[in-house]
Amino acid sequence: MQDYDLVVIGAGPGGYVAAIRAAQLGLKVACVDAHPAPGGTCLRVGCIPSKALLESSHQYAALENRLKQRGILVSGVTLDLNKMMSHKERVVRALTGGVKSLFKKNGIDLHVGRGRLEGPGRVVVGDGQTTLSAKSIILATGSRPASLPGITMDHRFVLDSTDAIALSSAPEHLVVVGAGYIGLELGTVWRRLGSQVTIIESLDCILPGTDRGTADLAQKLFARQGLSFVLGARVTQVTVDQDDCAVHIEGGDAVTGDRVLMAVGRQPHTEGLGLDTLGIALAARGVIPVNDRFETSATGVYAVGDVIGGAMLAHKAEAEAVSCVDMIVQGTPAGDRPMIPSVAYTDPEIACVGATEEDLKRRDVPYRAGVFPWIANGRARSHGTLDGEAKILAHRESDQILGVHLVGSQAGELIAEAVVAMQLKATSHDLANSCYPHPTLSEVLKEAALAVHNQALHI
Ligand SMILES: Cc1cc2nc3c(=O)[nH]c(=O)nc-3n(C[C@H](O)[C@H](O)[C@H](O)COP(=O)(O)OP(=O)(O)OC[C@H]3O[C@@H](n4cnc5c(N)ncnc54)[C@H](O)[C@@H]3O)c2cc1C
Repeated sequence: MQDYDLVVIGAGPGGYVAAIRAAQLGLKVACVDAHPAPGGTCLRVGCIPSKALLESSHQYAALENRLKQRGILVSGVTLDLNKMMSHKERVVRALTGGVKSLFKKNGIDLHVGRGRLEGPGRVVVGDGQTTLSAKSIILATGSRPASLPGITMDHRFVLDSTDAIALSSAPEHLVVVGAGYIGLELGTVWRRLGSQVTIIESLDCILPGTDRGTADLAQKLFARQGLSFVLGARVTQVTVDQDDCAVHIEGGDAVTGDRVLMAVGRQPHTEGLGLDTLGIALAARGVIPVNDRFETSATGVYAVGDVIGGAMLAHKAEAEAVSCVDMIVQGTPAGDRPMIPSVAYTDPEIACVGATEEDLKRRDVPYRAGVFPWIANGRARSHGTLDGEAKILAHRESDQILGVHLVGSQAGELIAEAVVAMQLKATSHDLANSCYPHPTLSEVLKEAALAVHNQALHI
């Protein structure tokens, strides 16, 4: 038996960040992961490899189409998909290696193997050769791709996101089920690399939960890039016949292609975790229920990240990990949960934080909206990235910023400023009265803040 102060199960952004924070605060820490390369979904098969492919395919598409307009003529552009995938793998190796180095630097023991709870304060690793004991245990086992009832992913024709970032050739026609950020990002990658792409969504808009005006604008821009959408369509079944896949839709014609990507969300990963040994019961959708201190129903056992549900995003997992460890070690009270932004790294990017117009209307909150388009921004003009708009929603009386919704190039970078502003409870006047560097894309935020009071200067 090896004794620790804290054992973390799962070395994704929730788990490895929890381990590092706890070690920084003086705890003796072990982290257990089934995979030898720490980093979880995010580093191995999620955020990082998908962004590597998005960037590579963006460069390819720019060379093929966009540079011509600026007088840069490139001929004979060809695609070596193998090399593109190798680059992606190198990026993943560098970052998972980086987590290993951080563990070493912080004196954290990484145990490779499946972790299983075995009664209070005990975790068994792998086949049982190693047993760890600890006063505190954090469950950070993440999530895995979900499918629809009756639809099995065979990983050859009917794919999950892990398959779709590792294809050896571009499909002729990729049918994507689900218009969330994973479906849109991976659909974009393969569209740029030559596939016909059709995205099917059961709701009547893309990016469910996103501000409707923002989502509709993004859809229009994606359609211009050749992505096809079938909205309001409930997929009932996928059948595969030789090389043909048919995606069946309730009350409509089937959509056929040669590959289908199921991008309908992710489900918490709790199989074999031994939750029953401590009487921890799962809540709806298979999440581990926790209170506002990340405590499960078992004393000394906490959970963070995708496995507790909510927005399944790496930065949310990291933020929870830090709060959870601070509460365990320093007894800090449960504070306000931080603002969690979300970004789709498509072109243009879509980045949002806080309430949507629909939320505010539903809750009867009085608000004003300020909108400013990318096309009226000098830097966007010089970059030739004219599509998009920034929308700021502020309370009608207090002027506090309630939501920021961006569609446009580098929106994912710009949203960080909005997150800080909202975390500090800034008003639209605070942004409008700040001096922004010129020419920068960030000026769209200042102008949108001015527009909240009909005072935008450049439109
Ligand atoms: C294609 C794709 C793109 C994405 N892009 C983004 C993005 O751009 N931005 C963003 O914020 N999020 C993105 N995400 C989501 C992000 O990857 C997750 O939200 C994040 O990884 C969750 O972190 P986590 O620590 O909770 O779990 P995970 O990263 O899933 O890590 C859980 C770890 O636990 C291990 N594990 C599970 N069970 C056990 C067990 N019993 N014993 C030992 N180990 C176990 C797993 O091997 C895994 O390493 C993307 C996801 C996908 C699939």
